[in-house]
Amino acid sequence: MYRNYIEVVVNEMLTPLLSEYKKTNPDICTCDKCSEDIKALALNNMPPQYVVEEKGNILKRVDYDLIGGRAHVTSELIKAIQIVSSNPKHG
Ligand SMILES: [Zn+2]
Repeated sequence: MYRNYIEVVVNEMLTPLLSEYKKTNPDICTCDKCSEDIKALALNNMPPQYVVEEKGNILKRVDYDLIGGRAHVTSELIKAIQIVSSNPKHG
């Protein structure tokens, strides 16, 4: 089974990044809807990197080299947080 590895990394990084970002930007919304929007937006801005999933484990540890580096993903996520929080679509 194939998985988009970028998605795996984004899922892993988003929650801690959001709580860190919220410390200096207390106005941002971190509701489920906004979190999903942030993920979708960030994923749309990064080309997918497909990996083959083996026995339910994708890779033992996050391999940031595969995806252009942790800093790259962080900056895409922060861009997405800023866009979503300036135009939130939650009810
Ligand atoms: Zn929200």
